[in-house]
This record gives sequence, structure tokens and C-alpha cells, in this order.
Amino acid sequence: MIPPIANDFVAGETPAAALVHVDDLNGRGVSGILNLLGEHYSVRADADAMAYVGLVETIARRGVDACVSVKPSQIGLNVGADVFRENLARIVAAADAVGTFVWIDMEDHETTDVTLDAFERHAVATDGNVGVCVQANLKRTREDLDRLADLPGKVRLVKGAYDEPASIAYTEKSRVNESYRDCLAIMFEAFDDGVAVGSHDPAMIEFASELYAERGTPYEVQMLTGVRETAQFDLAAGDEVDVYQYIPYGSKWASYFYRRIRERKSNVLFALRAIVGN
Ligand code: FAD
Repeated sequence: MIPPIANDFVAGETPAAALVHVDDLNGRGVSGILNLLGEHYSVRADADAMAYVGLVETIARRGVDACVSVKPSQIGLNVGADVFRENLARIVAAADAVGTFVWIDMEDHETTDVTLDAFERHAVATDGNVGVCVQANLKRTREDLDRLADLPGKVRLVKGAYDEPASIAYTEKSRVNESYRDCLAIMFEAFDDGVAVGSHDPAMIEFASELYAERGTPYEVQMLTGVRETAQFDLAAGDEVDVYQYIPYGSKWASYFYRRIRERKSNVLFALRAIVGN
């Protein structure tokens, strides 16, 4: 069972629990992006597509406003690129058949090419029923945006969650922020299918709103479960932008929860207060 202090960041252990969370969000005008926790599987039997195949079908059957987001290493990239491609193809085919959208998360820089190649194939084949994440901390991303601009499908811009070498990535926070702004400006100019702003940063969300006022490109904001939820509901109450909450769920909640706790001092204090019952 997930302890109460982790409940803020994870929507339960089962798809049923995650869908209850989605129902609640939908009632407040926020759409869901469901992510089954678990990554870096090195055994083929663990890197299975079936959980997501079942999930995309359940989303469609229940008629909730939700899509899914899949990590390449969760569906076989560490076993082999062919296993990843095969599993992704099964998930995308099942999702496309019932009209559920599929996001592909981006992992460390060694996976960027294989992930973008897979996205391109499915974006074209499904006429845009898939999306991919790109990372502003990678120096290559501006060039990747040139390639992605002409494809159907959506692109989510994030700052980047992986420690990357300085030879290929911006490592200073201020430089990553500058790159995020540059990439957003490119996307609002060149991406007709819309821009997904994957950030909790009020400055980036404000900048996206300014770009929208200038160019009118449709955009959406995506944030994580348990992070700035009041801001998510406030944004969703306006009529400028669609808001999506990325919702992790599943039995592998512990390492995800500790990552969230470690990344911010305020989260550590929150966890300590919960533990001492104050
Ligand atoms: P930061 O730069 O961490 O913080 C900037 C400001 O945002 C802070 O000063 C504060 O004002 C506000 N803020 C941030 N966090 C909090 C908080 N917990 N509580 C209150 N205020 C806060 N990374 C990848 O590498 N690959 C992916 O596929 C990927 N997918 C993602 C999907 C979504 C929907 C999101 C939101 C993030 C994803 N990430 C992914 C993670 C991303 O790369 C960043 O590591 C993460 O979002 C932190 O950067 P930030 O832009 O949110 O803000």
C-alpha cells in the first residue's frame, strides 16, 4: 500500500485507482497523462507492452479525458532497440485503433536518436496520434526541433531530468532556462500542431502565454501530479490553454517518490513533517 505521504505524487497502485484520479481531474477541467511507473528493464519479460495496451483500451472504454506516456526503457530499450520498437508499435496500434493519444518520454542522451526515429515513424503512420518529449538542456535540441516541425503529432518541451556531460548539454540552470525560452520561441513559430509546455516554472508558463498572444499557436501546459496543483486548476479555469496532469501510478512508486522528495527542499520538509506527525 502507498503510504499517505507518497499519495500526493502518485495516483495509486492500480489502473483503477489512477482512473479515479483522472475522473476527479477531468471534473476540474484538467486532462490526464497516465504513466505506469517502472523503467530501465533489462529482462524482456519485464519490458512488456500489455499493461499499456490494456490501459489505452480502458481509457477509451471509460470515455475519460486521458492519454498515456511511455518511457522507452520501460518497454524494452535496454533489452534491445528492436524490442522497444516492437512494443511501441503494439501500444501505438492499440491506441490508434481506439483514439487514445500516446506520448513517448525522453530518457538520457544515448536514447535520443532511437526515440525520435520511433516517434517520426508513428507520427507519420498515425497522422499525429503520438507525441514526443525533447529536452532544453541538450545542445542538439534546436536542430531536432527543425526536424520535428514538419511532422504531425505533438512535442513536449522540458528542461531535462538527466545529468548529461557538459560537452553535449548545458549544465548551468540559467543556461538551461535560456535554452528553454529559445526552444519555446522556435516552437510557437514553427509548430502548427501545437506546443506542449512541460514545466512547473511560472516564468516559462508566462513566456508561453506571451508567445501565444503574439502568434496564436495553440499550446498546452503539462505538470506532474502533486506539483503546483493550484496553478494547474487556475490555468484550466481560464480559456487560453489546455492543462494536462502527468499522473504516475503503479507498484513501483517508491523510487519515483524519493526522486520527487529529493529534488526540492520544501518537499523534504513536507515529508519530514508527515513522518513526525506534525
Ligand atoms: P524547475 O527548473 O525545477 O523549477 C523552476 C521553478 O518552477 C521553481 O523555481 C518554482 O517556482 C517552480 N517549481 C518547480 N518545481 C516545483 C515544486 N515541486 N513545487 C513548487 N514549485 C515548483 N524530463 C525528461 O528528461 N524527460 C521527460 O520525458 C520528461 N517528462 C516530463 C513531463 C512533464 C509533464 C513534466 C512536468 C516534466 C517532465 N520532465 C521530463 C522533467 C523535466 O525535465 C524537469 O526535470 C522538471 O520538470 C523540473 O523542471 P521545471 O521546468 O518544472 O522547473
